Amino acid sequence: MWNKALVGKLVDWIAAKKDSLWVKWVHQIYIRDKNWHEYTPSNDSSWAWRKICKTRDDLAAAYTNGKWCFEGGVYTAKGCYMWLRGQHPRARWAKMIWNPWSIPKHIIFTWLILNDSLNTKAKLKRLGICDEAVCCLCAQDEETQLHLFSRCTISKMVFAEINKRLNLNIPREYLELGLSEEGRRCGGDPMMVIMAGMYHIWYLRNKARLEGILERPEITATRVVKEIRSRIQARIKFPLTIKDQKWYDDRFLQ
Ligand SMILES: [Zn+2]
Repeated sequence: MWNKALVGKLVDWIAAKKDSLWVKWVHQIYIRDKNWHEYTPSNDSSWAWRKICKTRDDLAAAYTNGKWCFEGGVYTAKGCYMWLRGQHPRARWAKMIWNPWSIPKHIIFTWLILNDSLNTKAKLKRLGICDEAVCCLCAQDEETQLHLFSRCTISKMVFAEINKRLNLNIPREYLELGLSEEGRRCGGDPMMVIMAGMYHIWYLRNKARLEGILERPEITATRVVKEIRSRIQARIKFPLTIKDQKWYDDRFLQ
């Protein structure tokens, strides 16, 4: 994001026809008499030049009638960075979680997490609804969303078991990052599994809180694997290639 904000500076220089040798050069060689804001680079343009053009497109919504929507109307890398931070996390998350493989109830639940809408004990205590906020699963720390889904000893055990059964290696840091601003940059491959894991950890937590029953992490992992297997079976296209069949068998036919 910060890189994009720095490249944006070049976009701004080109738009403002800044008095620089480089800007004169790109106008002369690439843009010529065309409008910079409508110019499309040719396929044989250099990678760096296409990146600048792509950044221009990404920042187009922040630029109207020769003015940037950042403070003071002029381009600053900091202003751009702040704008990007406010614009993109949501879009990026949307892309990661709304994919055809995701299970609808998990998507809805993940949205609740992203909007900080779960009634964790830390939140209930803040609202004066309960007296203490200790985690229902591990009883070691305050029950916040971040604790529950990434730092809690019990949820770590659940995810370790899911990793083992699905032959995956979702690092713990990923889960922690997944809930933070920075982590939203990560790729979305294991997202389906993470969403299923979080959904069932919440179920586990509710069972512990409301019924006083703490199920073993293996039981939660079984629920997650079962749901993922059903989803994959429902969406998978047959016949599978030998490679895909092996992938499937390694995970679900043990
Ligand atoms: Zn805990």
